[in-house]
Amino acid sequence: MFFKQVKSGGDRNFAYIIASGKTKEAAVIDPSPDAWGVLDIIKRENLKIKYLINTHSHYDHSSGNEDIKKLAGAENINYINCYGSTLKENKVQLHIHDLVVEAIKTPGHTPDSICIKAGDKIVTGDTLFVGKVGGTYSEDDARDEFESLKKLMELPEETEVWPGHDYGVMPHSTIVYEKANNPFIKRLGSFSDFLWLKQNWAQYKIEHGIK
Ligand SMILES: [Zn+2]
Repeated sequence: MFFKQVKSGGDRNFAYIIASGKTKEAAVIDPSPDAWGVLDIIKRENLKIKYLINTHSHYDHSSGNEDIKKLAGAENINYINCYGSTLKENKVQLHIHDLVVEAIKTPGHTPDSICIKAGDKIVTGDTLFVGKVGGTYSEDDARDEFESLKKLMELPEETEVWPGHDYGVMPHSTIVYEKANNPFIKRLGSFSDFLWLKQNWAQYKIEHGIK
């Protein structure tokens, strides 16, 4: 499997490319706000874009879609904008030749948030960052995110976590790292504790020297 994390401008955004090493068919995830980094690699590696996926509809994750469609030819992309809200099932499987890529519904940060699992890696968009979690705008959204994160924590502990922004102390981590170090994940035993941290995050960060 070809797997690449790509800096894509904006607020330390990350795009991702997952491709079959055999056929060079690729899925591009969140090539935004600037698609140039992804386009460079697509051309250099001679990849063929089969899927264009957004982990959620926020502009900084989806605004590069048009550039990708122009390059690949929209008619050549089989599956565009795999938003969670359009998924009927909790999980949808996409096939890139020999690779199985799974889109998993993880509402919370937005109602349409999804995470993308490929092999032992999961691309978590704005649902889970290294040491942090995505912002939410209501208690209901926070509860959805709480449930989505619990779902992610059921993955094998060695699963690699690849987030939508470079907000942590390193660009990627693992499920076991998040369980040991992410203060939100440590509070998944109690929604009120989780919500308290969301509501007091600014102060908590100062007290614990978190940037
Ligand atoms: Zn977002």
